[in-house]
Amino acid sequence: MKILVVDDEPFVRKLLIHQLGRLGFEHVQASASAQEALSMLEAPGESPDLIFCDLQMPGMDGVEFVRHLVNVSYAGGLVLVSGEDERIVQTAAKLARAHNLKVLGALNKPVPIDRLKQILEDGITHSPAQPRAERKTYSAERLLRAIVDGELINHYQPKVELASGAVAGFETLVRWQHPQDGLILPDQFIPMVEESGLINELTRSVLRTALRHARAWRDDGFPLQVAVNVSMDNLVALDFPDFVERAVEEAGIAASGLLLEVTESRLMKDPLTPLEVLARLRLKRIGLSIDDFGTGHSSLAQLRDIPFSELKVDRGFVHGAWRDASLRAILEASLGMARQLGMKTVAEGVEDREDWNFLRSSGCELAQGWFISKALPPEQIPDWIAGWNLRRSTFVEPGA
Ligand code: C2E
Ligand code: CA
Ligand code: CA
Repeated sequence: MKILVVDDEPFVRKLLIHQLGRLGFEHVQASASAQEALSMLEAPGESPDLIFCDLQMPGMDGVEFVRHLVNVSYAGGLVLVSGEDERIVQTAAKLARAHNLKVLGALNKPVPIDRLKQILEDGITHSPAQPRAERKTYSAERLLRAIVDGELINHYQPKVELASGAVAGFETLVRWQHPQDGLILPDQFIPMVEESGLINELTRSVLRTALRHARAWRDDGFPLQVAVNVSMDNLVALDFPDFVERAVEEAGIAASGLLLEVTESRLMKDPLTPLEVLARLRLKRIGLSIDDFGTGHSSLAQLRDIPFSELKVDRGFVHGAWRDASLRAILEASLGMARQLGMKTVAEGVEDREDWNFLRSSGCELAQGWFISKALPPEQIPDWIAGWNLRRSTFVEPGA
């Protein structure tokens, strides 16, 4: 692997080259300016696999350098390094990612060697960058057939209590088992379902199936709450609360055994009907969660107006919050607000042990994310619960 270090300070260059050498990376070139680095990139066959770039440099700074990298179609990895405020590095990284550059990390100087090692390991295992898959479109007829013919399947992702590790419930995440195109994730078809006016059919089908599974878990001795995602478009149907109430009764589940996760995916033309629908659902004791909290879609006004029982902090503020002061501030403020409003707190996007430990210390109640489990097909749930109950004690012991 060929590496290029771009930094105007000789000492920083030397230190980084030394650290990379210790990690077994010997093909390291260095450049004292962005201009020089660009001319090196133009030499045929000389393109590095990875560039470490300082942001603060006289002449051309790191942000401008990134733009030139895009222009020369640089395809290798990029690690941004800076002595500046952490937020500037993060902004620069965001910008580079938006240009489709492969950003492996954004670091503050001096760079600790274990962080460097981790970034290089991740970069090697995850590269080369996947070309983005073409988005397929499906007709309304095809989408309706998928719903009616039972091609949609519910997967379930556990939510667990941070304090005890106990399983609290599962969130339903729908997938489309397409006979030709394979397993399709919801982001690839929910927007089309909404635009085709079929979201009511989809939600009602997903909800009925979820309640059936919740009933089966209860009968197996696991009385767990099941969460179902609903679109804002579902909440303009005035008969929705009655439909939900009937479905819950038919399944033989307590109303509190169902939670609806609400995200505002677009601005509502008529904000009053959803308000009425949500108020009636709450009167019927159905749980309501404000999903993706902190993103533009889930706002403080909703929190003020709607009696949510749970607040789910968006994963964008969760993963990595332990090492990012801005994320941490937003996460802690959201948790604080939820607590004052008497709502249950959930963090999604808990991806590693650091996230888990940090959330435990922040007093958040529930966690969800890949650290605990990905979404599972229903037949795997009993085995997963058994496995988790063995694993969980190692995450909740004091000092563990
Ligand atoms: P969401 O409600 O925010 O669901 C969480 C998404 O994050 C899921 O993606 C889940 O697989 C993913 N995820 C879980 N843990 C982690 C983690 O640790 N790290 C990261 N980076 N991601 C994690 P999925 O299944 O692709 O669902 C995407 C979105 O589709 C959902 O976002 C939800 O808004 C929507 N959706 C899913 N099922 C339904 C449904 O039945 N009805 C409606 N209206 N929307 C649905
Ligand atoms: Ca959700
Ligand atoms: Ca979410």
